[in-house]
Amino acid sequence: MYGKSVPFWRSKRPFDMSREEWESLCDGCARCCLHKLEDERTGTIHYTCIVCRYLDCETCQCTCYPQRTKIVPTCLQLTPETFMTIRFLPDTCAYRLIAEGKELAWWHPLVSGTSDTVHEAGISIRGKVLSEDFVHPLDWERMIIDWVR
Ligand code: SF4
Ligand code: SF4
Repeated sequence: MYGKSVPFWRSKRPFDMSREEWESLCDGCARCCLHKLEDERTGTIHYTCIVCRYLDCETCQCTCYPQRTKIVPTCLQLTPETFMTIRFLPDTCAYRLIAEGKELAWWHPLVSGTSDTVHEAGISIRGKVLSEDFVHPLDWERMIIDWVR
């Protein structure tokens, strides 16, 4: 399936990965840039189709990546120290899959060899979201989606 050598995400623990390897686990889906709402009664997290204003919705890339946590204090920063404790990562996210001991999917760029497959498989947010700049906060509840869990 992967040739003769075992890929690094199966052979190395997160702490042993290089920074480049760790970053390459991100599939570029941008699902973690979607805004979420928490049900106050149950604590359930619901994803919405509203996305951070700093996301380029076509490329699914952050437009302020180096300064993102300063500009958006709630922006997620995944590290080998923190990724196991974040409970709302999408179920397709490679960091969550690795935390759960699961395999990467065929469309992951590390498996397919191209970043196109995350879009072709319908995993990325491309074409499905609205920037927070265009949605009134009172309307967020109506924008809850079920294609990200
Ligand atoms: S959800 Fe996970 S894989 Fe997708 S962009 Fe965010 S960190 Fe990367
Ligand atoms: S600042 Fe960038 S990485 Fe953070 S949520 Fe916004 S678009 Fe995503």
